[in-house]
Order: sequence, then structure tokens, then C-alpha cells
Amino acid sequence: MSVPMPTVPRKRRSPEEIAAAAPVAGPRRVLLAAPRGYCAGVDRAVIAVEKALEHYGAPVYVRKQIVHNRHVVSTLEERGAIFVEETDEVPEGELVIFSAHGVSPAVVRSAEERGLRTIDATCPLVTKVHREAVRFAKDDYEILLIGHEGHEEVEGTYGEAPEHTQIVNNPDEADTIQVRDPDKLIWLSQTTLSVDETMEIVRRLRERFPNLQDPPSDDICYATSNRQAAIKKIAPQADLVIVVGSANSSNSVRLVEVALEYGAKASYRVDFASQVDESWFEGVATVGVTSGASVPEVLVRDVLSLLAQYGYDQVDEVVTAEEDILFSLPKELRATLKEKGDSSRGLGGRGARPAR
Ligand code: SF4
Repeated sequence: MSVPMPTVPRKRRSPEEIAAAAPVAGPRRVLLAAPRGYCAGVDRAVIAVEKALEHYGAPVYVRKQIVHNRHVVSTLEERGAIFVEETDEVPEGELVIFSAHGVSPAVVRSAEERGLRTIDATCPLVTKVHREAVRFAKDDYEILLIGHEGHEEVEGTYGEAPEHTQIVNNPDEADTIQVRDPDKLIWLSQTTLSVDETMEIVRRLRERFPNLQDPPSDDICYATSNRQAAIKKIAPQADLVIVVGSANSSNSVRLVEVALEYGAKASYRVDFASQVDESWFEGVATVGVTSGASVPEVLVRDVLSLLAQYGYDQVDEVVTAEEDILFSLPKELRATLKEKGDSSRGLGGRGARPAR
């Protein structure tokens, strides 16, 4: 998939012209959320593709977008990655990487049947949810999987135990879903949901099924929770919140919803700075900026440069958590790195390398 290169649009009106159209009280400023951008699972998955290209050579096939970000996908395509929807598009014997969102056992079987070599870049925090699904299905629980039907991660988790699992998409479905045995019931969730909406779904499920069990540990991951917590702090002060992230990035879309819910007067998601519309700035003193977990920092920097052109050149970072999580690279790749004497640390995650 080829996408246009991001460009920062030329300024069409001066800050004075915008201010004259709708004056603002006080200085123009940016509140920049931290944490934002790449999480450990995304960084690991992207490094896995980069290392595979380096050590095995192009082409390297990747099932689905490795992470849900247009810029990342097009950059890897330029380097020789070929993104496919299903493993049957991969020539027999070739190498295929499974994306950070995870795959169902049926996909793994299909790859084996075609004699494909595989690298599993599923985020370890998604794998954790898969393991929970397998374990509770084995104990004959019915699993209410809170998540968005059709999202790759939900398809993968559901596929671990389809006979034991029902998907709950939203709070309304919690009011109507029918279960086999209300006393042998557990909820699990997609990792990138709104924390608040998920808790509302659980509350409504529990009203109907008081013996509903909680997952052994939170399924919504640290990165999703941290990015939502940061934007919750900024939103009440923001006239406008810009979320950098792609339309199919669940956690990015949730950030727009959370910003609006917590008091931002307006909020928009953009892939690139070029998609920012100058009409959004009218009457705006404070702009909040954040980015989803699959967004490289360079795209945020582009937005900040654009904002500076419009007079929003005072940037205050609002830090609500520090992240230093690292995950080991997929085991198939670690073995190759060792064999080939690659001295990189075999780690992916914030802190493993400078932000790009
Ligand atoms: S958003 Fe969370 S679950 Fe998804 S890749 Fe990042 S750390 Fe893993």
C-alpha cells in the first residue's frame, strides 16, 4: 500500500488573521501529552520487520498491517516488506511475520500447511489475553470478550476458543447478551479499549450476572491506559485536541473520544500534519496534542511545527506517567540475531532506541 508522503502545508493565514477572525483570551499554547506514541509492543513489532529485512533480505511478507499506522507501513514497504491480508497470498516456503495484533490458531495452522517460515510479532500483552482465553475455555467457562468485532486482535483472541466466547461490542449489548451459565462466566477484553467504557460494560454485565469473574490481570494494556490518563488531564483545559494516529488504530480513535468526554471543546484525529485544518484554530488558545501507540514521534513533531507556524509555539509537556517497558524480540528472530552475531540487544520498546 502506497500513501502520499506527509507534508506540512504552507501557512495560508497569519496568526493575526486567525486571531482577528476569532480572538482568544491569553497566549496560544500547546499541552503535549506524555506518554504518547510508540508502546513497547509496537516498537518490538516494527523492529522485528526491520531486523527480518536486514538479515533475511527482501521481500519479507507481513500478514496484515504490522501496526495500525499508515506512515510505518509505507516506510516498511519502501524497504521491501510486502503486506498481505492472508497467509495464502504468501508464496510457499517464504517468510511471513504475524502482526502485533495477534493471530488465531487457524492462521498459524494455515501458515504451517503452506510450509511458510513464520515470525510471531504478536505483542506479549495480547498473547497474555490469548492464554487467558485458552485457560478459561479449558475450565469450561464462557468468555465474554469485550471488544470490537472485526478488529484483528479480537479475531485472534476469539479464535483461541470460539465455542466458549461471545463478543460484547458496546454497553447496549451488555444488556441483551444471553449466556449459557451465569455462574461460570468471565470477561476478557481487547487491549486498546476505552477504560471508562469497558468498566461501564462490565458494570452492566455484572448487574445481570453478579457472579461474572474479572480477568486475572488488566487486559487493557499499560500503554492504552497511560495515553488515556494523560489526555484526561489535558482535555479540560484544551479548546482543541489533535490526536495523531490512523483511522484503523483503535487506541488512537479512543483518544479522540476520551478527549471530548473529558472536556475538550473539539478533537480531531490526523495521520499527518498536512491533514490539520486551519479553521480548527479559530478562537483556540490551548491545543492539546497526543498520539496513539503506533505513531512514530516524527509525526508528532510535524504537527508541533505546523502549530508553531500558527503561533502555538509555547509547548508544555504534561507528564502523567513514565514508561520504560521493553519486550524481547520474537524468539525466531533472537536465534537468528545470535547466529549472525548481531550485537543489538534483541529488545523492542520505549528506551530501546531513540524516538524516530
Ligand atoms: S497497545 Fe498495548 S497491547 Fe497493543 S502493542 Fe502496544 S503494548 Fe501491546
